[in-house]
Amino acid sequence: MHHSTNNTHLLIYPCPGYGHVIPSLELAHHLLGRGLTITVIISTDDLPLIDPLLSSYPTSLHKLLFTNPKVNPSPQPLIAKILSTQQLFDPIVKWFKSQPSPPVAIVSDFFLGWTTELASHLGVKRVMFSTSGALGSSIFHALWRDIPNINNDNANEDENFLISFPEIPNAPQFPWWHLPPASRGFKNGDQDFESFRTTILANMRSWGIVYNTFEGLEGVYIDYVKKQMGHDRVWAVGPLLPDEHSPMDGPRTGPNGAPPHDLQMWLDSKPLDSVVYICFGSRATLSEKQMCALIGALKLSKINFVFSVKASDSSSMIPNGFEEDRVAGRGFIVNGWAPQLAILKHQAVGSYLTHCGWNSILEGIAAGVMMLAWPMGADQFANATLLVDQLGAGKRVCEGGPEIVPDANELARLLDESLNGDLQERVKVKELSEGAIKAVKKGTSIRDLDMFVKLVSEV
Ligand code: UDP
Repeated sequence: MHHSTNNTHLLIYPCPGYGHVIPSLELAHHLLGRGLTITVIISTDDLPLIDPLLSSYPTSLHKLLFTNPKVNPSPQPLIAKILSTQQLFDPIVKWFKSQPSPPVAIVSDFFLGWTTELASHLGVKRVMFSTSGALGSSIFHALWRDIPNINNDNANEDENFLISFPEIPNAPQFPWWHLPPASRGFKNGDQDFESFRTTILANMRSWGIVYNTFEGLEGVYIDYVKKQMGHDRVWAVGPLLPDEHSPMDGPRTGPNGAPPHDLQMWLDSKPLDSVVYICFGSRATLSEKQMCALIGALKLSKINFVFSVKASDSSSMIPNGFEEDRVAGRGFIVNGWAPQLAILKHQAVGSYLTHCGWNSILEGIAAGVMMLAWPMGADQFANATLLVDQLGAGKRVCEGGPEIVPDANELARLLDESLNGDLQERVKVKELSEGAIKAVKKGTSIRDLDMFVKLVSEV
């Protein structure tokens, strides 16, 4: 059911940063393919990400460029940065008023809950777009709802204080130290704390929610969100990933990727399912001790591996001659940005050591590779719970902040086992992979996307 003559205009407003902009643009791509007109609010830093899409849809895609607003000094720089986006309220209103046919809805990131007020001021619908899963975002929401009480109950900031959410299916609970430092560092009544809490809670007043997930993965949590919202305008349209012909395949390979040719030849030379891909997302970096343990484990293990090392990981932590001598042809180090999707899809890659960012989890599932989970912060603990404890599609190898270090021998064993062991997890992830492919080809995710397009076109 494609609406090729549909010229409904939507404003898509992603939160700045790769992990948020990439899936938002993938959503834009699917909507543009259904004939919608889309304007994307984008910051100068993220501009290169949208260029390929602009050339594919020169008449129906527009960019609305804003320089990043000034960030007030704060002990919580990430929160302050997110809050600074509220300065765009008036400029966006002004832009709306100048449009001959302005958007009928604002589809914005769940960090930008204040756009609920913006939309109601403009008399249009607000749709929340979640780049986290339904479990991760439900926990995040409940946490910010309850945090004043949690802070009171845990006034002495006991690291192991257990926080539980009995109303969420499977009653998730986790220790206080799993909370992002951003929420741990706040005190009730802090100005940024209250503003951020207000903006997050406003999400529940959205007209609808679009999730980058699929029913076969998180059905029970999607139903829970529908119940919380009191209506069914909750659509699971994921995994939002580029197919072979998508203009979005390019940006995913990112700046300073490895020479794809070298990497391709290296991967082509390796047997089926003989390589572990190692990457901790676009932001997380390993501490020196963690890096030491990982390097030790790689030396002890017998596996082949591709390791995406961020510039900020300080490549000096990788010993000289590591690739050539110590692991003799078994390792390929990518300094900078690895073409992750291409790597995961390569038949030589059989498992994936991941920080459990939501995009990375979806990409691993779609590729059908068994995952070794090393959650470090944000929604990653929730994602690991879903992946490891609930779906049985991965194994946990370590969890926690920079001071928590895995045992090199044990990690080496898990790396070897992930490719050679007789593991139920590998069977499970292949099943999920088939489910993901089916959902976006002709299944539930297409149904939800079409329903979203239909309802938003009627408003
Ligand atoms: N990514 C990549 N190459 C890298 C590092 C990351 O292509 O070297 C991509 C990855 O495929 C994913 C995104 O960056 O799409 C990371 O998002 P995720 O939600 O997993 O984690 P975050 O970076 O937000 O922590």
